[in-house]
Amino acid sequence: MLAEEAYLFAPQIAALPIVGTMSRFPVRRLYCVGRNYVSHIREMKEGDERDPPFFFQKPADALVCDGGSVPYPPVTTDFQYEVELVVAIGTPGAFIALNDALKHVYGYAIGIDMTRRDLQREARERQLPWEPGKSFDHSAPCGPLFPKEDVGDIVSGAISLSVNGILHQQADLTQMIWNVPEIIANLSEQYRLEPGDLIFTGTPAGVGPVKIDDRIEATIAGLGSLSVTITSKEV
Ligand code: MN
Repeated sequence: MLAEEAYLFAPQIAALPIVGTMSRFPVRRLYCVGRNYVSHIREMKEGDERDPPFFFQKPADALVCDGGSVPYPPVTTDFQYEVELVVAIGTPGAFIALNDALKHVYGYAIGIDMTRRDLQREARERQLPWEPGKSFDHSAPCGPLFPKEDVGDIVSGAISLSVNGILHQQADLTQMIWNVPEIIANLSEQYRLEPGDLIFTGTPAGVGPVKIDDRIEATIAGLGSLSVTITSKEV
């Protein structure tokens, strides 16, 4: 019998740096909102514009920090960016009321929902799960976390994304179909939210493909910028 409980190995804890501190924010789950800007629904030609947003997940270890590399992933020839506001949950809760929702937020960051668009479209057409298009290694670049006690709640302001200095996505956070309190209230009806959960809140129009050596820069007013570089395929 073992003298004490022991693990065979220690899995890495996914985490984000917290601006202004030496601490890091350990990440538990990574939720994403689909269809949260009308402009993006239109460019994707996705059914009825009045259909509500919905949720999917990526693995927490898909995070890539600011300045990092994103290897061009396997099994795609259409690897695309989607800039999104990221909300970090600091206080647990289920069935959270709309008026209480922002009290559960620890802070905010810039994220990019990297997508194998060809696999996402194929899944949609064949009515199969989204995982191959959305949930894969290195698919979630995310900038450092800004605590809301420092920056307040991020409810409006410019969101943008450039590739190699050329602007492709530009919108305002007020154009979200579900705002942040509505996202938290809706998501918490499906899952109990816990500290460490991140929510990627959906992307506006202008998504498009990247290639190896491209440099992506994303910005959100009040949250600085996030840069990643696409590198050669993993071997
Ligand atoms: Mn997205």
